[in-house]
Amino acid sequence: MEFNCNENEKYLRHRVIKWRRLSLILFAAPLLLAQAPAPDLILSNGKVVTVDERFTVAQAVAIRGDHIVAVGSNQEIARLAGSNTMRIDLKGRTVIPGLIDNHMHLLRAATTWTRETRFDGIESRKQAIEMLRARAKALGPGEWVYNIGGWIHQQFADDPRPFTREELDKIAPDNPVALQESYYEIFLNSRALVLLKIVPNAPDPPGFQPGWIVRDASGRPTGIVQGDIAGTRAVTSKLPRVTADQLEASSVTLVRDMNRAGLTSFGVPGCDQNVLELFQKWKAEGKLNVRVFCIDGAAAATPEQVNRSLEQIAHTKLFQGDTFIDSIFFGESVYSPLHDPMFQLKSNPPPDQLEQWRRMASAIAAAGLPLHVHAELHDTINAFLDQIEAINREHPIKQLRWTLAHVNQIDAPQIERMKKLGMYAAVHPWAVTNGAIMHEGFGDGAYDMPPLKTLQDSGIIWGLGTDGTAANQTLPFVTLYFAVTGKMVGGVKVNRQTLSREDALIAHTRRNAFLVFQEDYLGSIQPGKLADLLVLDRDYLTVPADQIRDIKPVITMVGGRIVYGAE
Ligand SMILES: [Zn+2]
Repeated sequence: MEFNCNENEKYLRHRVIKWRRLSLILFAAPLLLAQAPAPDLILSNGKVVTVDERFTVAQAVAIRGDHIVAVGSNQEIARLAGSNTMRIDLKGRTVIPGLIDNHMHLLRAATTWTRETRFDGIESRKQAIEMLRARAKALGPGEWVYNIGGWIHQQFADDPRPFTREELDKIAPDNPVALQESYYEIFLNSRALVLLKIVPNAPDPPGFQPGWIVRDASGRPTGIVQGDIAGTRAVTSKLPRVTADQLEASSVTLVRDMNRAGLTSFGVPGCDQNVLELFQKWKAEGKLNVRVFCIDGAAAATPEQVNRSLEQIAHTKLFQGDTFIDSIFFGESVYSPLHDPMFQLKSNPPPDQLEQWRRMASAIAAAGLPLHVHAELHDTINAFLDQIEAINREHPIKQLRWTLAHVNQIDAPQIERMKKLGMYAAVHPWAVTNGAIMHEGFGDGAYDMPPLKTLQDSGIIWGLGTDGTAANQTLPFVTLYFAVTGKMVGGVKVNRQTLSREDALIAHTRRNAFLVFQEDYLGSIQPGKLADLLVLDRDYLTVPADQIRDIKPVITMVGGRIVYGAE
């Protein structure tokens, strides 16, 4: 136990020393550049939004190998060119750092990605229906047409209605259809109901609690299944995944879709082993196009499991990887009975469960492990902070970057407690997708969920993510649009705690680099950092705010390699 405690803490201290050394190199950069070999690539004639500490805007960037060697004016950077230096004329386009989602269930998504018909960012119901029709036709009769979250019917600006069983029967008469809205409910057609054995005048099949399967007065299932995460899982656990030999193709498509959306790095809760092995293989071949930082570790569900977990936690080693793949946090659950369901309105964490939570978290602190934990409802956040304050007196957590994730109901006093503890906030505005449902549940209180401005004004280090791909949509420019306008997908205003474009971008880049322990390498366009960047089709800083969601990268670069190019 002692050994590992020291190992993890030693690593974290080492990072601080390394950063100091790197700072010295950065300050000495102009001198070193004179003797350095020429860059491989120069991007010039652009608006380079570096997102450095002073939010400097430059014209050009020079890249050698996988990292940035210089940032400056067109003339300064042109002088560095050698005979083999490639050039890209940005033609005035805006460049920003590659976007980082600090919490997306990315690897899990690979197991269904190419089987799903995703509605992320689709704001027309007509278009969604066309996609379903086309998919049913392409798959052929009898095959499941489905998606697992990432959308909500209120996003269809042209016609924000739920789907009915009869309508889905018409759209895909020969296919079972299951469309999951966030984790809120699932719309099924008649074929799907039959396959799932959800039939009139018969008991609910095993796995469903009373009330989850919505029935009309005559006992006939309407096609809607509710029940929050547990209810939707009772259905989606029965949907087909990609086969073992389709997994690589599905993962390739997933990564490409993420690169196309502007994402280059991820905090990933629960790194599925099968998919991680593929990513390891690609890394070895020099063709891994995203960076993956795992939030891993098994939560306990009973006091007996806690007994067993304590030993495992003591032997957990993080930070054995590199800037492409690493494990960085224990998370995202500690003691699963205290994992807030998504659409619950209020919690009341019982003392006996908190006692088990504390045994786990105390062992995590004693082992010197960073913790990234799902904490959503106000009273749950308070209860966790009570426990953490007590743990901190025995095993200080200040250097461990303990992070509360989601925090939709966090308030100013809680943020102050976190700051005193040296904690951070990974913010995943579920309201981007679920804003309308949240307003039904919380009334006007939902306008402050999450309280982005309060977080920003507090000075706590916090970053933006989605918690996709089921709970929320996955597109980072939709998240930035939400942060700047307070509008959910589809355009309805659901949040009043809006941010400046600059602060929103910092939260999706440099702050997230810190939240995934990569602040030395990622999050801004600066000499010495890895060349992860986006060339955009329009200027994030000046485009009308409502168009932020429509911004598309024309080039996405990871480690100096162009991984996506629209032209
Ligand atoms: Zn969570």
